[in-house]
Amino acid sequence: MVGDIPDGVLHHIAGGSMDLAGGLHAAEHAAIGILPLFALCDRADIGGLSTPLHPDTGRPQIFIYDGHPGGVGIAEGGFGVVEKLWDATLSLVSRCPCPQGCPACVQSPKCGNNNEPLDKLVAGTILRGLLGMPL
Ligand SMILES: [Zn+2]
Repeated sequence: MVGDIPDGVLHHIAGGSMDLAGGLHAAEHAAIGILPLFALCDRADIGGLSTPLHPDTGRPQIFIYDGHPGGVGIAEGGFGVVEKLWDATLSLVSRCPCPQGCPACVQSPKCGNNNEPLDKLVAGTILRGLLGMPL
């Protein structure tokens, strides 16, 4: 099961002084943009949250949740295909030709934090790590 970001990936990011929070946030946005391809919903139906250190798990975490009260199974369906979701998200992030992230890849029109921080390159590193690929 793909769930936690492997420790080796976190050490790689920390050792390279890369922006973990920006990478998580960028990966979250890109995944929310991709999820409708798998879950037959609109990205407006889904919300997300990412944090470099979640108090309940003591680890970096990305949450993607149904925007409808009580949920309609979108996030649950996404979790069932999470490896495909990460793979498609990685393709989006790595193929988008923009240098720093744009609305087509990691920027979100409904971000509550003004799309800050976002780090598209670190998002790619995190996604490759989640998929067990070379960083
Ligand atoms: Zn882009």
